[in-house]
Amino acid sequence: MIQYQSTRNQQKKISASKAILSGISDDGGLFVPTKFPQISKEDLEALVRSSYQKRALYLLSSFLSDFSEKELSSYINKAYHSSSFSDIRIAPLIPINDHTYTLELWHGPTCAFKDIALQLLPQLLTASAKKENLKKEIVILTATSGDTGKAALEGFKNIPNTRIFVFYPARGVSQIQRLQMTTQEGNNTFVFGVNGNFDDTQSAIKKVFNDPNFNRILKNNHLILTSANSINWGRLVPQIVYYFSAYCDLIQQGKIVSGTPINIAVPTGNFGNILAAYYAKQMGLPIHKLICASNANDVLTEFIQTGVYNKNRRFFKTLSPSMDILISSNLERLIFHLANREVSVIQDLYAKLEKKGAFSFPVSLLKNDFYAGSCNDHQTKKMIQNIFEKYQYLCDPHTAVAFHVYSQYQQQTGDHFPAVIVSTASPFKFPSSILSSLGYKIPVNSFKQIEKLARISGQKPPFSLTKLQNKPERFTDVVEKEDVCTQLTSTLERGTL
Ligand SMILES: *Cc1c(COP(=O)(O)O)cnc(C)c1O
Repeated sequence: MIQYQSTRNQQKKISASKAILSGISDDGGLFVPTKFPQISKEDLEALVRSSYQKRALYLLSSFLSDFSEKELSSYINKAYHSSSFSDIRIAPLIPINDHTYTLELWHGPTCAFKDIALQLLPQLLTASAKKENLKKEIVILTATSGDTGKAALEGFKNIPNTRIFVFYPARGVSQIQRLQMTTQEGNNTFVFGVNGNFDDTQSAIKKVFNDPNFNRILKNNHLILTSANSINWGRLVPQIVYYFSAYCDLIQQGKIVSGTPINIAVPTGNFGNILAAYYAKQMGLPIHKLICASNANDVLTEFIQTGVYNKNRRFFKTLSPSMDILISSNLERLIFHLANREVSVIQDLYAKLEKKGAFSFPVSLLKNDFYAGSCNDHQTKKMIQNIFEKYQYLCDPHTAVAFHVYSQYQQQTGDHFPAVIVSTASPFKFPSSILSSLGYKIPVNSFKQIEKLARISGQKPPFSLTKLQNKPERFTDVVEKEDVCTQLTSTLERGTL
């Protein structure tokens, strides 16, 4: 039986469903499992011949003790289905050379890795509400810089007893990303542009969460408010599955024997994806090094190399926008585990972060499991070109960052363990960056860019992107950042209030 606690409170233990329903703990901490289920060599070998869905069932059951296998099995089969994933293997492992593989996590409906968690989260969330006897309707409120919003909309569309609101910076997302959201289908989905950048949008949403008047309206109308971002345990736990799955595939493809250590390189922003790999290692998966790859926003590289976390630094807009981040929320979970679960350490460090924007932590504790490096836009483009010319493999800018930092690691250490490079988005989601990396002229229209990339690579672009051309835009409203709360209230009122 696995229970959960906050990183900032040692006393209170809660169930998985309560942790998923709450999202964040009211003491400001994040929920973590009180222990890690252990997966033995034999358990792992038994999964080698299983489907992704079976592997997911085994691993999710080990964490989500208050859900039955029957329940989980039904959610998993709905989430990871050929109607939403274009590759029935869900997270295929693709060989690049004799010791390097990419783990493609972008075959879901929105072409980014966030689908893997967000196809499952709505079902976990609504089932958790039932288990906790909550008859209330759930309102999901999310600010997005591009990928999360669309993945959350696809996950929650038409899910009974939920309504989802996504706010995006009107001029801060790509044409494709905007169309993905403005053409969204579903009878419970709402999308607004905000006049401002991502930080403005995010702060406006944070204000709504803390607005006493808005919270009173929610309460009076039996609504509960939650967010779909990556601090929720229900978003983290589905990500552990694909690391085990990749290892099973390596065995199944005859590339390694069971027990061989591997390295994993992850393009990192909010530290959710790489934390899931760390959890897999804690559960017994033979991972040698976790390679944390940042773009020019290298706050995590500095932290892992020096132990100093300092968010007082310049913010860069890069070619890998989903990693343009200065505050990596999930890092709090890692530090909690590395500090031997001492809540006082977390309280102390995060008070310092609040006050001074910085803290430090013993670097020796980080270096056992992690290596870190960063990659600027120039290096990203070079890597996209290299990988395409050498291996005829097209990778998106986020994945290229991971490739770059992995090659840096290899040069520095000479380590040749098999390596899994985590691929987090389809290259067709960023066609102009890819075309320019490969030295081609860039058509103005995004769909023309997609066509050109398809022609050059000989690959078929994802239908979920090309079909956007012909879809009507349903959500064209752009609101001022001061008006987000009013807009939300009036839209809710036009619903069932
Ligand atoms: C969100 C995202 C990332 C960063 O993942 P984290 O879990 O936040 O570290 C990397 N690549 C892409 C394409 C993403 O959408």
